[in-house]
Amino acid sequence: MPQNRRTFLQNTLLAGTGLSMPANATTMAQAQSSEKLKVVCIGGHPDDPETGCGGTLAKFSQAGHQVTIVYLTTGEAGISGKGHDEAAAIRKIEALEACDILGAKPVFMGQIDGDSVINNEWAKRLREVLEYENPDLVFTHWPLDSHADHRAASMLTLQAYLEMPKKFQLFFYEVLTGAQSMGFKPTDYVDITATQDTKVKSIMAHASQGGLDMYHDFHGEMDAFRGREAGYDFAEGFVFFSSFGPARII
Ligand SMILES: [Zn+2]
Repeated sequence: MPQNRRTFLQNTLLAGTGLSMPANATTMAQAQSSEKLKVVCIGGHPDDPETGCGGTLAKFSQAGHQVTIVYLTTGEAGISGKGHDEAAAIRKIEALEACDILGAKPVFMGQIDGDSVINNEWAKRLREVLEYENPDLVFTHWPLDSHADHRAASMLTLQAYLEMPKKFQLFFYEVLTGAQSMGFKPTDYVDITATQDTKVKSIMAHASQGGLDMYHDFHGEMDAFRGREAGYDFAEGFVFFSSFGPARII
């Protein structure tokens, strides 16, 4: 049976992550497991990609796929009592450690925490990063969010996506739902039971943000809740978006 790109991506993704799948896809997915994907995750601050989809990113990297994390800001406004330069230096080191734990390559866009900008210039810069990375799959913030930097990361990703001739699979992830992400209803779930430990370690790398306490108090509950919805111990939820056809890819 000939395979188009969507079929290829579908089966490769399923093989790499263990996403929910129809039973008849399993055999083909396993057959495609040697195919390598490029995955990019975009977050407003250091710790957003880790808390929103660290388990999924670890799953991709552990399956041999290439993962890049793009931080829109360096979180310079995120440590009380410290100036921007000092906080950015601390948070950059934490993000580098987190990426090392997740098996991801870090990219820092250089926007300012709490003052991020949505305009054509920044969309062009993000588009250039994405064109360089040439991803098969991109995760970004769900756009309805109480934090302006998260909205900026989401909108800049969407603008880059719409302007890029070569499309990729685009998924939105949630952070701190109920306080930050709003109105988020997952279309897809990833079982992160096997990579939850790695996710937690990557979050602990962000010691300036509360580390383990932050996970247990907030995102640990989210992972358990999404797990109950999907029938796993722990899961991350995503909303799939595509502007280039009605067919679902995963
Ligand atoms: Zn954030």
